[in-house]
Amino acid sequence: MAAAAGERRIGLLADALAQREVQWLIVSAPANVRYLAGYSGSNGLLVLAAAGTRARHLFLTDFRYETQAEQEVGTHAPGCERRIVTGELVQAAGQLLSGEDPAALGEGGATGEGAAAKRRHGPLERVGFDEHDLSVARHDRLADALGERFELVGCGGMVERLREVKEPEEQRRIAAAAELADGALTQVLEGGLVGRSERQVAIELERTMQELGARAASFPTIVASGAHAALPHAQPRAAQIEAGTLVTIDWGCVLDGYCSDCTRTYAAGAVGGRAKEVYELVLAAQQAGLDALVPGRSGKEVDAVAREVIERAGFGERFGHGLGHGVGVEIHEGPRLSRTASDDPLRAGTVVTVEPGVYLPGELGVRIEDLVVVEEQGARSVSSLPKQLTVVS
Ligand code: ZN
Ligand code: ZN
Repeated sequence: MAAAAGERRIGLLADALAQREVQWLIVSAPANVRYLAGYSGSNGLLVLAAAGTRARHLFLTDFRYETQAEQEVGTHAPGCERRIVTGELVQAAGQLLSGEDPAALGEGGATGEGAAAKRRHGPLERVGFDEHDLSVARHDRLADALGERFELVGCGGMVERLREVKEPEEQRRIAAAAELADGALTQVLEGGLVGRSERQVAIELERTMQELGARAASFPTIVASGAHAALPHAQPRAAQIEAGTLVTIDWGCVLDGYCSDCTRTYAAGAVGGRAKEVYELVLAAQQAGLDALVPGRSGKEVDAVAREVIERAGFGERFGHGLGHGVGVEIHEGPRLSRTASDDPLRAGTVVTVEPGVYLPGELGVRIEDLVVVEEQGARSVSSLPKQLTVVS
């Protein structure tokens, strides 16, 4: 993230908290902590104060991460006061807010002089937490530490909703990850497909992405040929790729903290008419989905447009998953494009995949996936590899 990008994001959340009349927000999910404060360690927690409360935002971690927090949080969210605490972070947060642990407070800070005394008599304060992330046990420890003057309010999804709209710098990073992944596959395909095992191709692809600078694959690479490709989430096998089959490759990498995701289906040698027919159908459905992707439409509507193409051809039952998902600091995030997605209009700046597929058990599978930025004028793809059916021997 760009320096101090976290400040802007935290500011937006602080405003949203004030609107919801929630005084504090406990941010516990690691991806959210990283997004807001730049912190990439494994034990970090944010306690954000609503705008207008004059309280400071806090970042909590333990002594192992003191230096890392100083560097990362100090750069990306310098307005957060860093606290080194012992024990479980949510419990420490509860104690800090309730003023039960004045020794840990130091000077000023979120609570300050007399805060505990004030709280014993003041109005109930609302503390937002992430019900999708906190286990019941951690929630209970937080509630115990806060005591009766505080009310816990489920605020899950607030940070995720902010994360959906990507800043230009985030879009650039996602595009760079996609470009690196495309380059890696191009390199691997030069070695051919027929006669190599699915596992060999997958391992080589992941290694090549790392050699080109990626931190890791953004999810376990899928290489599936022939009837095996009829499993949408097939695991690469030791089996050799046979000539005359379709091969689905779904891959991506993490670069500078952002993920990429793409799928191409190749012909390993010449394939039959049925394979070509299904391929063209999926390609047409994908194009329809891409064309329908404009701000203001809902994820449900865009899914329906692509799905209709497949349904009209009689393969509706064989496209059993959603059309796409958001991609960012996590490989699967909002917004979703699916039959069960919300009716909320898609916003410009979101980054989503468009990935219809047709899976014929015992026979073949085809999926074609692009990663795109939703812009005012429509979808801008950051996936660059050609989509006409390509023969790789
Ligand atoms: Zn994918
Ligand atoms: Zn995907």
